Amino acid sequence: MSKSGIIFDIKKYSIHDGPGTRTTVHLKGCPLACWWCHNPESQSVAPTVLFRSEKCIGCGTCIKVCPNGAVSVVNGSLVTDEGLCNGCGKCCDACPPEARELCGRPYTVEALMEELHKDEIFFRTGGVTFSGGEPFMQPEFLIEALDACGAQGYHRCVDTCGFTQKRVIVDSVKRTDLYLYDIKHMDPEEHKKYTGVDNVVILENLAAICEAGANVNVRIPFMPGLNSGDDNMRAIGKFVAPLRGIVGVNILPYHTVAKGKHERWHMDYKLPDLMPPTENQTRHAAAILESYGLKVHIGG
Ligand code: SF4
Ligand code: SF4
Repeated sequence: MSKSGIIFDIKKYSIHDGPGTRTTVHLKGCPLACWWCHNPESQSVAPTVLFRSEKCIGCGTCIKVCPNGAVSVVNGSLVTDEGLCNGCGKCCDACPPEARELCGRPYTVEALMEELHKDEIFFRTGGVTFSGGEPFMQPEFLIEALDACGAQGYHRCVDTCGFTQKRVIVDSVKRTDLYLYDIKHMDPEEHKKYTGVDNVVILENLAAICEAGANVNVRIPFMPGLNSGDDNMRAIGKFVAPLRGIVGVNILPYHTVAKGKHERWHMDYKLPDLMPPTENQTRHAAAILESYGLKVHIGG
């Protein structure tokens, strides 16, 4: 029996996570905490219970079914003690109005492969993408799953922020057909401000996998006023263009999905007023990157 991984979503028919129609496996856990994170519920590796208080009818079922006594009412509000909760999901399965949702369930590689086999017909032109969170937060599971996909002849993409051990990411090169590799900011301080970590390891790892023979599609989440400046685009172009194995650069214009997700799960969102970029802004950034000889695509 292989090691289990914690997966919080398996998205089928995805057309923005690499070439063709793909099945995207979202592994839980991320070492970054980007202000614009689309999956804030996925940042910790352990399964977590999400709660939508507005849907709760106060039936108390979750309190009764929890084997660990993790759910209680404190000052009139339902509270889950994360120290006691082991993420078994019983309260979520039992909640009548589905006010509770379990984010992250354990899968063995065998169970994941069984799920992926169902989509095999799409893998003639597409394949499987491992995303997150950050897939390298569960490196053993990721490597085993990549090998299992390789044995089936599935095209494999890894969508990564690049913040992991160099040894681990370089070891994944022979198992990965294409990386979707995020660059958020070239200034280490700005990077740290918006994501919680600086970019040194990320840039070193990008250079290392290119040197090891990887094919890489760089992806830039394009955030007006945060990382959209000409200086940042020039710095990205200058760094990326000489690397071998760069297939192209995708500019991913900001959209407000992240805001909706944070609202849904009652999480603080640091960019409530940020609007998507205009077409002129994204075209201008693309032109800067193209001036370095890079093939640029706007969108995923
Ligand atoms: S997931 Fe399991 S342990 Fe956690 S609160 Fe729900 S029933 Fe209790
Ligand atoms: S089971 Fe669901 S609806 Fe009932 S008290 Fe718990 S969260 Fe609320």
